[in-house]
Amino acid sequence: MLIRKVLNFLVVLLIILKVSFSAITQEQLQDITNKLNYIYGANIMVQIYPTPLGAMATGQGLVFIDPSFVQNENYEAIFGVLAHEWAHEVLGHIPQVFLQQWMSGNNVYETNLFNQQKELEADYYAGRALKMYNLPLQPFLDLLIRFNQAMDYTHPYLRSHPSTQERVQAVTNGYNSI
Ligand SMILES: [Zn+2]
Repeated sequence: MLIRKVLNFLVVLLIILKVSFSAITQEQLQDITNKLNYIYGANIMVQIYPTPLGAMATGQGLVFIDPSFVQNENYEAIFGVLAHEWAHEVLGHIPQVFLQQWMSGNNVYETNLFNQQKELEADYYAGRALKMYNLPLQPFLDLLIRFNQAMDYTHPYLRSHPSTQERVQAVTNGYNSI
């Protein structure tokens, strides 16, 4: 509850300060939010906020997207990124990962493997969401490849994200599932 209050406070603060970055417009970001909430049956908010991950689900009905993404990536790529984060929110992945961490006695390797499964699930639904709105898949794949490749040479037990090849496959499977 406290986390939620702090997050809400930050959002209100940013709105008051009229912080605005953007290459895709606020209207486009709102359009993506509306479309994702419609297909996921959710009521999730997005906020432009610095995160080293590019985008981040909080598990609190709020998703952060980094200013650099909004400035540099196109509509379709951001749609895919947010559809991935929406899946984390709707499927309750954030608390599940914390629970797994606790149940495994903070075993980093087990938690990483569990987290990788959740990432692939979110990628699958991102692919589906893109297809539902008849958007091209490639811009999101390009973004994913660019950002995930740095981790490919790390041992699977030591990274929180799956290999780029696995992720591309999961997104493509989701896309082709409709
Ligand atoms: Zn993710």
